[in-house]
Amino acid sequence: MQTSQMTQFASGNGIAIVKCPHPDCDHKGTFISRVHCRIHHQIERDEMFKKYGEPIKVKLNYALRRGS
Ligand SMILES: [Zn+2]
Repeated sequence: MQTSQMTQFASGNGIAIVKCPHPDCDHKGTFISRVHCRIHHQIERDEMFKKYGEPIKVKLNYALRRGS
């Protein structure tokens, strides 16, 4: 299962912001860290993703600068 490694997008111009899938959490960032899950939810990240799903992409700051 490849769950956690797809959450980090910070290459070049585009940054995707993801929201922590935990229902009581409003944490947003470029990725959900393992430390965040441990500190705020007392759960391992993989466990949390299994339980609540993958992080929700809230913003895709995609400056389409490749051509123009
Ligand atoms: Zn959280």
